[in-house]
Amino acid sequence: MSEKDPYQVLGVSKEASEAEIKKAFRRLAKKNHPDVNPDNPEAEARFKDASYAYEVLSDADRRKLYDKYGHAGLREGFDPNQHVGWGGRGGNPFEGRTSGGGGFSGLDDILGDMFGGNASRRRPKQARPADLEVVARTRLSEAAAGFTAEVSYNRRGPCGTCTGSGVAPGSQVRVCGTCGGLGRQQLGHASMSFAQICGACSGTGQRIEKPCSSCSGQGVGESRMTLKVRIPPGADGESRIRVRGKGHADRAGNAGDLYVRLDVENDTPFERQGNDLLLTVPITLSEAVLGGAISVPTLKGDVRMNIPAGTDSGQRLRLKGKGVDNGQSPGDLYVTIQIVVPRNLDEESRALFARFVERNPQSLDR
Ligand SMILES: [Zn+2]
Ligand SMILES: [Zn+2]
Repeated sequence: MSEKDPYQVLGVSKEASEAEIKKAFRRLAKKNHPDVNPDNPEAEARFKDASYAYEVLSDADRRKLYDKYGHAGLREGFDPNQHVGWGGRGGNPFEGRTSGGGGFSGLDDILGDMFGGNASRRRPKQARPADLEVVARTRLSEAAAGFTAEVSYNRRGPCGTCTGSGVAPGSQVRVCGTCGGLGRQQLGHASMSFAQICGACSGTGQRIEKPCSSCSGQGVGESRMTLKVRIPPGADGESRIRVRGKGHADRAGNAGDLYVRLDVENDTPFERQGNDLLLTVPITLSEAVLGGAISVPTLKGDVRMNIPAGTDSGQRLRLKGKGVDNGQSPGDLYVTIQIVVPRNLDEESRALFARFVERNPQSLDR
């Protein structure tokens, strides 16, 4: 789409309010709308630019993305959390925005207000069948490594009996007598005319002798889908994995998308923060005082970690790259040290310990 600066296109400042943006768009749309400028490709191009700019700036989420990342932020599949590193590999499989899609907030309303039915006639809005969302249950370890989710869901699509025609097999189809097969009727007179969907045939332009009984002639039915979806490594509860064309479908086979969300159960000792993992590890007093090597669990098995002599309780040590590895930029594992103070010492050990502190008063200085 347009690579022009939407603020420049609308002629508003970066700080422009919603009302200013709307006003600027109305002004441009009024001047350049194809209905007012028939056969004027320049005006049409300006109109498209303005529509796109308005579509971006009228949606708070998209406006924020543009402000922060420019046009890159508006590309399909852009994920601000994964901004670094996803380049060049055909895009990020996660959908960045978690708020429901539908960018054209208010655009059609505005055009409808200004141009009546003409606006939608000029630019037939492809009513895309609805997207769907399913939730796949998983565990943290599985989501971190990537896995194949099997999801089942109900989906509207072309009726299986009539393959979407709405006509009972073997039955006749005639042209609708009311609209002559156009599917719509022209109402009003010359300057104020507008089209309305034909009531007799609901806009299909056809009269069906015998409707399909499975779908009552609607052409669509609901069916159960089971699908295997590859979830890339590093996904979490915030991810939405898109599967194109697997949402609801209309009778013609146009389909929305399916979004898979994850319900992640933590089956690990870690706390996950983005791609970083947090873990608290107990060590002995002697390991804290003298230093040593301990074994620390990671998602890919145990690793050795050095405890420097004089390590304090609560100190945080980093194991670089031992966090969640999404194949692009692995996170780190942060280990918080917890010194386990010995209890129930016998008399001799207590005496020894008291002597140690007496003999080394400076050992407690920091
Ligand atoms: Zn049917
Ligand atoms: Zn009709």
